[in-house]
Amino acid sequence: MNNKKFETNAIRTQLERSQFLEHSSPMYLTSSFVFDDAEDMRASFAEEKERNIYSRYANPNTSEFIEKVCQMEGAESGFAFASGMAAVFSTFAALLDSGDHVISARSIFGSTHGLFDSVFPKWNIDHSYFKIDEVDTIESLITPNTKILYAESPTNPGVDILDLKVLGRIAKKNNLIFIIDNCFASPYLQQPIKFGADLVIHSGTKLMDGQGRVLAGITVGTAALIDKIYRFSRITGPSLSPFNAWVLSKSLETLAVRVDRHCENALKLAEFLEGHEGVNWVKYPFLKSHPQHEIAKKQMKAGGCVVAFEVKGGLEAGRKFFDAIEMLSLSANLGDSRSIVTHPASTTHSKLSVEERNQTGITDGMVRVSVGLEHIDDIIADIEQALQ
Ligand SMILES: *Cc1c(COP(=O)(O)O)cnc(C)c1O
Repeated sequence: MNNKKFETNAIRTQLERSQFLEHSSPMYLTSSFVFDDAEDMRASFAEEKERNIYSRYANPNTSEFIEKVCQMEGAESGFAFASGMAAVFSTFAALLDSGDHVISARSIFGSTHGLFDSVFPKWNIDHSYFKIDEVDTIESLITPNTKILYAESPTNPGVDILDLKVLGRIAKKNNLIFIIDNCFASPYLQQPIKFGADLVIHSGTKLMDGQGRVLAGITVGTAALIDKIYRFSRITGPSLSPFNAWVLSKSLETLAVRVDRHCENALKLAEFLEGHEGVNWVKYPFLKSHPQHEIAKKQMKAGGCVVAFEVKGGLEAGRKFFDAIEMLSLSANLGDSRSIVTHPASTTHSKLSVEERNQTGITDGMVRVSVGLEHIDDIIADIEQALQ
């Protein structure tokens, strides 16, 4: 760790120059690496020296990407994955044994629900959910086999905020591994390790890439836990491709300026919607009306790119709103330079029962906007005409 600022490290952390003296990091599209002789090869495989062997284990481009994210999050070590879900799955699978138990917030990414509800039970790994406004019940859910405390903040799609410091304290007191999916905030807005997280997971697909091009995931945290995740992953093969790592490392150079503008635009849109007669409610962490606004201000630099609101008139009005949208994309991604509107009840969270959706705060008329980098006047104009 050095004492340079976030933006500087995001740009100046770079692979050693090759003999060609390139300015920008080259792409190392190679599946394997060569050895000097039999002894070099033996010692490398025995892990007596640190060097690249095979790109399923490590590659210069993935190493550069991991190094940047470790600096941003204040982490000791990390491993990069082919997607955010590969990161979530491999992190849990590496750390959990049959019979273990996980406590997770109920408001989490749809596919992560899928892991807890239908994949991990195959290996006798159980879970309990807590509602985000019932953090005081977490300790009552702990069993002798509980190993991990897991949450996302801000949550998807409801943009609720969990107090990371409180969760960190509970995890520490009860000797649980505390893991945060920090994808909605990005490392620029929030660094969960400061609040006691042992591991931080990102879908690199979202704000890190920021231009909707590649899938990626990363887990960073303490060296001892990352070593377990690394050993699991070098056998099972969920690693990030060097091409995508190169794209992402370039994207991180502009993360701070992009996220600043995302947040500025999102706050302006949230303020516009708050006064609108066609809208029941608006939620954005940096609106004063947000129920956890004070916590958001303590742990985040700004509110993020996602605004949630409910169109007046329920499902029918919601559908009309989506059909009337002209410029914004109807898509499932977020954190893209292009603004995106999603209807969680019929798309990302459609696999949940109505009851589960209600428990996670997803109503039929709820709209999630990932506010992009277009001019804010054009973003507001499209939403305004669709609401009319
Ligand atoms: C998108 C997302 C994921 C999964 O990432 P993929 O790259 O799509 O696999 C996990 N968690 C959160 C919060 C997400 O938004």
